[in-house]
Amino acid sequence: DSTSAPNFIRNQISEEIEAGKVDKIVTRFPPEPNGFLHIGHAKSICLNFGLAEQFGGDCHLRFDDTNPAKEEQAYIDAIKEDLHWMGFEWAGDVRYASDYFDQLYAWAQHLIREGKAYVDDLSPDEIREYRGTLTEAGKPSPYRERSADESLDLLERMKQGEFAESEKVLRAKIDMASPNINLRDPILYRIRHAAHHQTGEKWKIYPSYDFAHGQSDAIEGVTHSVCTLEFEDHRPLYEWFLDNLPVPAKPRQIEFARLNLNYTLTSKRKLKLLVDQEVVDGWDDPRMPTISGMRRRGYTSASIRKFCDMIGVTRADGGLVDIAMLYHAIRSDLEDNAPRAMCVMKPLKVVLTNVPDDHDEVFEVAGHPARDDMGTRKLPFTREIWIDQDDFMEEPPKKFFRLAPEKEVRLRNGYVIRCDEVIKDDAGEISELRCSVDFETLGKNPEGRKVKGVIHWVSAEHGVPVEVRQYDNLFQVEQPDKDKETDFLEHLNPESLVTVQGIAEPSIREAAPESRYQFERVGYFCADRHACVDGKLVFNRTVGLKDGWAK
Ligand code: ATP
Ligand code: MG
Ligand code: MG
Repeated sequence: DSTSAPNFIRNQISEEIEAGKVDKIVTRFPPEPNGFLHIGHAKSICLNFGLAEQFGGDCHLRFDDTNPAKEEQAYIDAIKEDLHWMGFEWAGDVRYASDYFDQLYAWAQHLIREGKAYVDDLSPDEIREYRGTLTEAGKPSPYRERSADESLDLLERMKQGEFAESEKVLRAKIDMASPNINLRDPILYRIRHAAHHQTGEKWKIYPSYDFAHGQSDAIEGVTHSVCTLEFEDHRPLYEWFLDNLPVPAKPRQIEFARLNLNYTLTSKRKLKLLVDQEVVDGWDDPRMPTISGMRRRGYTSASIRKFCDMIGVTRADGGLVDIAMLYHAIRSDLEDNAPRAMCVMKPLKVVLTNVPDDHDEVFEVAGHPARDDMGTRKLPFTREIWIDQDDFMEEPPKKFFRLAPEKEVRLRNGYVIRCDEVIKDDAGEISELRCSVDFETLGKNPEGRKVKGVIHWVSAEHGVPVEVRQYDNLFQVEQPDKDKETDFLEHLNPESLVTVQGIAEPSIREAAPESRYQFERVGYFCADRHACVDGKLVFNRTVGLKDGWAK
C-alpha cells in the first residue's frame, strides 16, 4: 500500500488505538470549491484518505462552502472527478458545510444567549483597528455589551437581508487582550448578498471558516481534523467553540506542514490568475500543478501517491520540495509500465539506396524490454525512412556517436546504416541523406568494426503524423511568488510549451486518449485526453528520460 508510510500522525493514531482511546477514526478532506485541486491538496488527500484506509476508518469529503461569492458548482464537479481519478472513495454522501447552516445558526443564537457573542456595528476597518497588534492589546467594541435580545433580533434581521454587506457582523465575545489575535472576538457571521450554489437565496449571512469548520467536524463525528500549519494559531479558537457549544463530539485538530514545490505555485488563488489571464489553457493545462493538469500531462495517480509518500508528512515546515522528485516518481512508474515506440520530432529524410522500392520487411520487436506481457509491435522497414535532425551532423565533434558523413550508426531495432551522401536544397539546407544498409547486422555486430551509436527512426511510407506538445516548467525561477504577490507573472518560462509536428511508428495509430508511451531516446508521452479526436494524434510530453533527482 503506497499510502501508509509512517509519520507522526499515523504513529499518534496507532498509539491512541492501542490505548483504547479511539475505536474507529473519522477524517475528512475539506476543500473550498473555489478552484481546482493542486499537488498540495494531493498531499492532504493521501494523508486523510490514507489514514482512514490504514486504520479501517472513514474519510469524508466535505465542501467547505462558506463563501458563495467565490464558489462554483463546476469546481465541485472537478474536485469529485479528481478524487475518483486519484483512486479514493469518500464514506457516505458528499457533505457540505452548508448542510449545517441551520445548526450553526442555532449555535450562534446559543452563544448570544449565553453572553458569548454579540452583533457588532463597527466597520471592517474599525474592527481591524480595534483588534490591536501582536504587541498591543485590542480594545472592546462599543457594541460589545449590547443585550442578548438586541443581538438576537439584529442577527435575525441580518439573516433576512435587512442590512448591507459590512454593516454588521456577529462576533464571539472572548478576550480582546489575548496574546492570540484569533481569540480577540473573532467574527462568526458576515452579511453576503450572494446566491449560494447549494442553499440558493435562503441565507444573507454566512459563517466564517473558524465558526463552521470545527462544528462541522463535530456534527460529522470527525475524530482527527488534519489541517495545515497556518491553522495552528486557530486551534485555541477551534477548541473554544467545542467547549462552549453543546456539540455531539469533540474532534481534535492536528497540523502538518503544507507542500511547497519549486518552479510552480501551490495556491488556488494564484493558479486562478493564470487561468483568468489566459497564461495557460485552463485549469487542466498540462503545465498546471493541478491534479487534472497533471493527469492530462500524463501523470498516473499511482505516481502522485508515490510522490506524496516520498515527501512524507511532518510537523516542521519542510521548505521547498524539488520538482525533480515529482518527475522521478512518474518517470520510474512509466519506465516500468509504458510501452515503447519510436517517434521522430524533427524529421530528416533518409533514402536507403540499396533497399529496393518494393522492400516490405517488418521487424517484430518487444512492446517493452522487460515486460513479456506487453507483447510485440510491428515496425515496417522501407527504402525511405525519417530520422531526427539532431541525430545527424555534417561536421561532428569527436564524441558524436550518431550519424555523420561516411560514418555508421545502428537504426534502433534494425540494421546498421552508413551515410554516403548529403543532399542540400538551393538554400544550402540539408534536405536528404543517402545511406546504405549493411544487411548482415540485424541483431548482431558488424564484421571487424564497432558501431557505438543507435538512433530511432520511422518508415516514411508507414509513419503516422503526430502533434507533439513539449511541456516544460511554467516558471523559470524556483520560487516564482517569493517577492511580490503577482510577481510570478514576470517569471514565466517562454519555452514552457514548444509544439512540433513529428512522425511516429504505425503502432501508435490506435493510441487511445490518455495512453502513455516511452518514445525511445526522447522521453515519456501521453495521448491528450481532449485533442485526440477524428483520427488526430496529439501527444503531451510528460517528462524527459534523464533523471535529475539524486536519491
Ligand atoms: P489554497 O491556498 O490553494 O486555496 P487552501 O488551503 O485554501 O489552499 P482548501 O480548499 O481549503 O485550500 O484546502 C483543502 C485542504 O487541502 C485543506 O485541509 C488544506 O489544508 C489542504 N491543503 C491545501 N494546500 C495544501 C498544500 N500546499 N499542502 C498540503 N495541504 C494543503
Ligand atoms: Mg481553505
Ligand atoms: Mg485558499
